[in-house]
Amino acid sequence: MTIEWTVQSLEETQALAMKLADLLQPQDTITLEGDLGAGKTTFTQALAKGLGVKRIVNSPTFTIMKQYEGRLPLNHLDVYRLADSDEDLGWDEIFFGDAVSVVEWAHLIEPDLPAERLAIRIERVDADARRFLLNPTGTRYEQLCEELMK
Ligand code: ADP
Ligand code: MG
Repeated sequence: MTIEWTVQSLEETQALAMKLADLLQPQDTITLEGDLGAGKTTFTQALAKGLGVKRIVNSPTFTIMKQYEGRLPLNHLDVYRLADSDEDLGWDEIFFGDAVSVVEWAHLIEPDLPAERLAIRIERVDADARRFLLNPTGTRYEQLCEELMK
């Protein structure tokens, strides 16, 4: 199942991310794919805000992962730099702890990802518009998408 959703502005992207944030539970995993500038980090920042994170959320490219305190802890991973290694960062603790995890460039750690997750692909339509392709795996994430689209 793939759900397609097009937004016309940055504000609509932020609204979508904040709505998703309200529906999240511990151990939820969201993967974000899309070209540079598609809006992966922007989406994560709004999701963090929706989770009540007060700190500034930057792309963790050089640290691989940052954790933030909110309504739920948020793990923000950008695994771009792991491309050529098979480093084990303790994936099970990351994905199956109390936190919500958002992973940018997730395909690079495909074997380490939970089998069930919400995959989101962001495509740039023009300067302000973005197409979201939501691909849930498993009942939990299918229900999450249904709630999100209500
Ligand atoms: P990525 O992390 O995918 O490389 P960023 O989130 O860093 O992308 O950058 C996305 C850029 O596109 C930001 O400068 C953001 O302000 C801009 N932008 C414009 N419209 C949108 C939109 N509808 N959704 C997300 N980002 C948008
Ligand atoms: Mg980014």
